Amino acid sequence: MKTDDARLEQVAVKREQYPEPDVYEFAFAGRSNVGKSSFINAMLGRKNLARTSSSPGKTRTINFYRVSDLRLVDLPGYGYAKVSKTERNSWAGVINTYLENRENLLEVLLLVDIRHEPSELDKAMYDYLIANGHSGLVIATKADKISRGQYQNHIAKIQKKLGIKNRDNIIPFSSVDKKMVDEMWDIFEDIVGF
Ligand code: GDP
Repeated sequence: MKTDDARLEQVAVKREQYPEPDVYEFAFAGRSNVGKSSFINAMLGRKNLARTSSSPGKTRTINFYRVSDLRLVDLPGYGYAKVSKTERNSWAGVINTYLENRENLLEVLLLVDIRHEPSELDKAMYDYLIANGHSGLVIATKADKISRGQYQNHIAKIQKKLGIKNRDNIIPFSSVDKKMVDEMWDIFEDIVGF
């Protein structure tokens, strides 16, 4: 995928703020600090297009990144403990409104940290995605933080917790070494049918 033209096209909270549904979208869900911004930056070949932050819970908006004839959509990270219940509910509303109403949404991928067992919120999100006809692709982030020899062990734990049928649906990814970027784009292009 040529990513020279990648840009932040729109930042939205409400439905009226979404860009026109004129190109397919891939959206990314996951708890805050899981590495979503870093994943998007790696995929778009940029250092700082998507905000990365060491203070989790900051990204409260839906960020639409345009690349060629597609959009990558960064959903607000969930599960950040240090916010009020009201605020948590309002984020859940922002995420659900997008997932339930976006006609050009092609696929939603769940990001989990390869080192940790997914949380109950991750499980709920995964179940929701499967129930809504998504393929259940999971990106296991921060793969550089464990050795290759440990991959299968960690992937097995993610598979068990989320109840994933096919282990191949869990893709280890590192935004540091960026080894999987081309393969990830191949997966997206297959889904679009380019
Ligand atoms: P977000 O809240 O999900 O958007 O997470 P960020 O992309 O801001 O990442 C959270 C923290 O994890 C930052 O300090 C990143 O530098 C770090 N991080 C993200 N992805 C990776 C990765 O693949 N490898 C390593 N080692 N660190 C990562």
